[in-house]
Amino acid sequence: MNFTDLKLIDPIAKAIKEEGYTQPTPIQEQAIPSILLGRDLLGTAQTGTGKTAAFGIPILQNLSLKKEKNRHIKALILTPTRELAIQIEESFKAYGRHLPLKTLVVFGGVKQGAQEAGLKKGVDILVATPGRLLDFISQGLISLKNLEIFVLDEADRMLDMGFVHDVKKVLKLLPAKRQTLFFSATFPDEIKNLANSMLTNPVKVAV
Ligand code: AMP
Repeated sequence: MNFTDLKLIDPIAKAIKEEGYTQPTPIQEQAIPSILLGRDLLGTAQTGTGKTAAFGIPILQNLSLKKEKNRHIKALILTPTRELAIQIEESFKAYGRHLPLKTLVVFGGVKQGAQEAGLKKGVDILVATPGRLLDFISQGLISLKNLEIFVLDEADRMLDMGFVHDVKKVLKLLPAKRQTLFFSATFPDEIKNLANSMLTNPVKVAV
């Protein structure tokens, strides 16, 4: 398979070409068509497999094809560490460079001023670590009430790092009607239960 088989819109196809990608990785081949169709997804995949583009590309495309263009948070990617959050933000910016969508990253351990200024300018796609996200929500600086797509990245690491309670708090704030993408490298029972609690009839992909 190559990227032209995935029927991507021109601005995204162009950005991918500019990144130097010629062929989708196995997780991209499996995940992109289902995410484009709006399905929930349960992915078993580690970092390094091309996982970020596997969810980033179809999220950008789905949001681009929406008629509603108001700036509010339409997609949230929750990830356990600052490093992952920054990498994901950079990927969205790269694949979305020819699109009018705005991506912002928020994470803890730094002063919130610059991130707050970014939020106030308007955001379509937010990449966040759990603690800082909840901080901003409690201050009324982030609303997730119009969210359309939620990604939980590295769910097993979220659990290992003690974030499961925070993740559950975030989940309660999301609209019931949404698309959810769940990624984990491993699936102990607690992760399986968490996945079952948040996914509806998911497509399963494993690499
Ligand atoms: P990830 O698993 O998302 O952390 O991606 C791992 C690395 O693979 C990143 O440096 C990406 O830029 C790169 N990558 C993702 N998809 C492709 C692709 N289809 N072809 C070549 N490189 C890719």
